[in-house]
This record gives sequence, structure tokens and C-alpha cells, in this order.
Amino acid sequence: MSLPVPLRGMSQMWDVIVVGGGPAGMTTAGRAAERGKRVLLLEKNTILGKKLLISGGGRCNVTNATSDRHVLTSRYGDNGVHLHSLFARFGPEDTRTLLRRFGLETKVEAEGRVFPVTDSAASVRDVLERYMAGGGVEVRRGHRVTALRVSDHPDGADAPAGGPAGERRGGPLPGRRVTAVVTSRNEELTARAVVLATGGTARPDTGSTGDAFAWLRELGVPVRIADSALVPLNVPDRWVRGLQGVALPDAALIVEALSDGSRGNADVHDTALWANARRVRTWRGKLLFTHFGLSGPLALNAAADIRDLAQSGPIRLLINPLPGTDPAAFNKAITSAVAAAGTRTIGAFLRGVVLPRLAGTVCTVAEVDEGQRLATLTRAARQRIVSCATGMPCAFGGLMGADKAVVSSGGVDPAAVDFRTMRLREIPNLYVLGDLLDFNRQSGGYSLQMCWAGGWVAGESIGLAP
Ligand SMILES: Cc1cc2nc3c(=O)[nH]c(=O)nc-3n(C[C@H](O)[C@H](O)[C@H](O)COP(=O)(O)OP(=O)(O)OC[C@H]3O[C@@H](n4cnc5c(N)ncnc54)[C@H](O)[C@@H]3O)c2cc1C
Repeated sequence: MSLPVPLRGMSQMWDVIVVGGGPAGMTTAGRAAERGKRVLLLEKNTILGKKLLISGGGRCNVTNATSDRHVLTSRYGDNGVHLHSLFARFGPEDTRTLLRRFGLETKVEAEGRVFPVTDSAASVRDVLERYMAGGGVEVRRGHRVTALRVSDHPDGADAPAGGPAGERRGGPLPGRRVTAVVTSRNEELTARAVVLATGGTARPDTGSTGDAFAWLRELGVPVRIADSALVPLNVPDRWVRGLQGVALPDAALIVEALSDGSRGNADVHDTALWANARRVRTWRGKLLFTHFGLSGPLALNAAADIRDLAQSGPIRLLINPLPGTDPAAFNKAITSAVAAAGTRTIGAFLRGVVLPRLAGTVCTVAEVDEGQRLATLTRAARQRIVSCATGMPCAFGGLMGADKAVVSSGGVDPAAVDFRTMRLREIPNLYVLGDLLDFNRQSGGYSLQMCWAGGWVAGESIGLAP
């Protein structure tokens, strides 16, 4: 954190400098400016909300229509308890109201996911840009913040000339305040408050490279090492990758573990080996096949748990495209089909039951010729079809990296934050928001809800006495 010299720009004092032009930063800036504050927003990219634009597959799942606050906070893992007061101030309905204020209506889809009626993330970013413009926020794009200037005195005097806290160990000093931010353009910009909304480490290509974690750690703020949390699964099986682009709106993903807890490689297609495997977890939801494996809400939500389960010994995944169908009932359906039209092929039969692109794959994995007539299927072949159509086995090749992650885990310990204001407890004019915070949240609009709520509450608190 050594400071470049000479520094420029010290003449103007802002009420608040917001670092990061993602959803959390833009909401804070809009709300603070609406309350009459002089706001400067610094974004290192040349455009705002780069990650927001790709959210929800470009449609932006803005929040989740969960009205019960206890249910809502339970979607944020063990740390969710910290969010009660925040969501009491700004809940999912408030998010929808804010967007409506700027003419953007929303709709509720499966699992309570809320999307703009435009199906366009760009329209959400447009609202935030108009919100900021209406309040006169000065936005500087292409401005990367490189360091924070910190004073150990509550009045901000005697700011140290060098890096603020690199030498400090054992927690922040009481009375410590941020006085300025330093940019890559050799500017030192002063403000009464600084908001950090620089995001986590998922998808660094969007600008979220975890910059603020280092600054906060140096200030003695507890930060858990960031890792990928909502991240797709790497599955090496050719049949999985061959289905790239196929989406199953309702599938089950099952993890099986070998009962004897043996270690090493275990061929997932070795029927004898897995005959007595234990079913350890099942998830249900929307699944997407990709060129590297599995994605979609189902895979993203299960990822961290699957990674943990794989630590204890060999596991395999089973994909069930017919989660509501009992295997015995499915077997009966084939028997009836044989009696009714034995000359029909197994491929044609399956195309009436599962997605057409999946029918051929079920046959391939079950090692049955798609063109074989139903009446000529052996009992063993029929059983393999039943077993595959209700649980196609594939290998778990690990989690994809941060470049494919939707959300990173880790971040600032929520205990260090006052959620009534979003200030750090020990540095009362420094705010932390959005993906910087350590919440193990699910897919479904919960991440963005945290950004709107935190941004709104921070914007309300700026300028108020601690
Ligand atoms: C593919 C994908 C799909 C997603 N879909 C959804 C969804 O549908 N619903 C949902 O709720 N969540 C979704 N998420 C998660 C959601 O996008 C994030 O939770 C959200 O963007 C976090 O907002 P943020 O403002 O905290 O940070 P970010 O959006 O990461 O914004 C941080 C900004 O700070 C800037 N910045 C970083 N460092 C500096 C610096 N040193 N100086 C200046 N600027 C800096 C970055 O360039 C960036 O623009 C998705 C994420 C991904 C990757």
C-alpha cells in the first residue's frame, strides 16, 4: 500500500466516495445523493455493472419473492442471522418498488425468482444509472482505487504518509477513520465517508478481483479467505458434455458414496462396484448441461456440499431427469408399452417420456441400441434403461474455477459490520457491501437482494452520527 507521489485532487472534499460501480455501489450512491449528499463513484472498468449485465443469464434475477424474513435469512447460511435488521429496512418488496419507481416492472417465476418484465439486465442497470444521475452523482469510469488513506484520530488529522495499516496487527485501532482514497491516476480524493463495494472474487473478468479484501485485512478487519461458492461442476463424462445447451427444468442430482469408504479412483459405470453404494444427498431443481459439465441453479447450489462430500472418499453423481417417477412404475410403463406396441423402438418410447435429446443419451449410457424394438428388449436391458432414466451416472471432476463462479464464498466477517448502517464497527466512516461480505447464499436472487438492501441502508446512513 505504498503511496505514489505526487498526488493530485486533494482540494475537494466529498461527503462520500463509493468504490465500485456494481449493484451495491450504484444503489448506495443513488440513495445518498437522493438525500442531498455529494457523492463520487469510482469504477475501474469503462462501463458500470459489468457483472450485473451477465446476471441471471442476461435476464437478471433481481431478488426472491420471499416475504417471511426468517425464511429469507435462512437462505444465507449460518451468518444469515445478521441480516434480519437489514431486510427489515429493505426487503424484496422494496427492491421491486425501487425498480417500479423508475418504470421497471418485475415478475415472479419458479422458486420465487423475480425478474424484470423486460427480461433484460441492461434495463436494471439503466434504472441504477438514472437513479444516480437524478441525484447528481459524479461517476468516474476507468478510475481504479489502489489504496485507502487512514488516520488513527477520530477527527481525521495526522493521516499517516505511508500505507495505512500494514504494520498493525491484532485488530483495528479505536477511533480510526478513512480520510481519502488513492487512485491509479495518482489522485488522492478526500471524503467524509468511504463505501467499499468492489465485489468478491468470482468472475474476475468483470472487474471483481477482490481488491478490497487486501485493504481490509491490512486494517485488521477479519476477512475469511475467498473461495468459489456458487460455481458449476466439472464432469468429464462425454455424454454429459454432449448434452451441452440442454436444460432440465426439474431434475434431481444425487450423490452416491461407496459404503466401505474406500479411496482412489472408482469407475462410475462399474455396476457391481456401486451396487451397494449409499445415497448421501439429493438436490432438486433446474439443471443445465454445459461444455464442461453441469450448471444451473441445481448444480450451483449443490456445489460446495458436493466438494465437501468428495473429501471423504469416492463419490459419483446420478442425474435423474424424471425425479417424480418411481423406478418400479417406470418399469411397468415399459411393460405396458411392450404389450401395446412391441414393434415400437425404445428410442421412440423414451422420446415420449424425456426430452428428445436425452432419449438417445439414456440408451447410450444404458448400452441399449436406440433402434431396438421394445418387444425384443431383454429383462436386463430393460432394467438398465429404467435405472439410467431415473439416475444416469457420471463422475465428479471437481468444481470449476473462480472464472466460472457466480458468487465467491468468504469475505468480511459479518460480526465486524453494523447492519443497521453497513459501517464497520471499528472504523465508523468505512462501509462494506454486497459480495464483499461473507454469506454462504443460495442461487435465486439472494445475492442481489443483499446488494440493494445494503446499498440502500448505507446510502441512508451516510452523514449520520455513528
Ligand atoms: C454469471 C453470473 C450470474 C449471476 N446471476 C445472478 C442473479 O441472477 N441473481 C443474483 O442475485 N445474483 C447473481 N449473480 C451474483 C451477483 O451478480 C453479485 O452478487 C453482484 O453483482 C455483486 O454486486 P457487488 O456490487 O457487490 O459487486 P460487483 O457486481 O462485483 O461490482 C463490483 C465493482 O467494483 C469494481 N471494482 C473492483 N475493484 C475496484 C477498484 N479497485 N477500484 C474501482 N472499482 C473497482 C468492479 O469493476 C465492479 O464493477 C450472478 C453472478 C454471476 C457471475
